[in-house]
Amino acid sequence: MNKFYIRLSLALSLASILFLSPISSVSAVETNPPKNALERLKQGNQRYVTSTTVCHEDWTAKRTALTQNQTPFAIIVSCSDSRVPPEIIFDQTLGALFVVRVAGNVVDDFAIGSIEYGVKVLGANLILVLGHSNCGAVDAALKSMKFDNHIQNVLTAIEPAVNDTKGESGNLLEKATKANVKNVADRLKKSKPVLADLMEKGTLQIVGGYYDLESGKVEFLDKP
Ligand SMILES: [Zn+2]
Repeated sequence: MNKFYIRLSLALSLASILFLSPISSVSAVETNPPKNALERLKQGNQRYVTSTTVCHEDWTAKRTALTQNQTPFAIIVSCSDSRVPPEIIFDQTLGALFVVRVAGNVVDDFAIGSIEYGVKVLGANLILVLGHSNCGAVDAALKSMKFDNHIQNVLTAIEPAVNDTKGESGNLLEKATKANVKNVADRLKKSKPVLADLMEKGTLQIVGGYYDLESGKVEFLDKP
């Protein structure tokens, strides 16, 4: 282990002890099985779809309760698209979701580091990789659009999903988006040392989802 990682892990431990999240809160969250977390997301999305949301009120009390601590129950890896904000579409309040958002819901080392933090330090035990209908990033990758800037990096990361669906018929954008969700979820499942180990122990669940812009409904792609 080199000096940088020793320093990083010391800093994270210190941060968690001092102000980010007391260790006791992590063990409290670990008693919550992943399937309960998935059920909370499903119920929240149902409330959102039927406009019976309950979580977006009394911010002052929520803020006050969360100033010293956070124990999110799920990690959402979703697209940056302005129409897919996880807290709203799952009807969740402050402190409930640990969210990583990148165009095309792809992950790199920074994203995986953030996810590991959400799991290992904050104690979340469910990761949802969430794609959505009419995703501009997947659409651009599907059309093999080329950019001479960082947008290209996003499209390159989505390319394997485009290749997976080559030659298929029907809604190719939806198929490529779902293939991309699966590829990202598979990458996270195999990610060592943290996520793969927890998957093996059965204490972490990683699932995929597809959000429909029109209905607001999230289709869960993996049946637990
Ligand atoms: Zn998108």
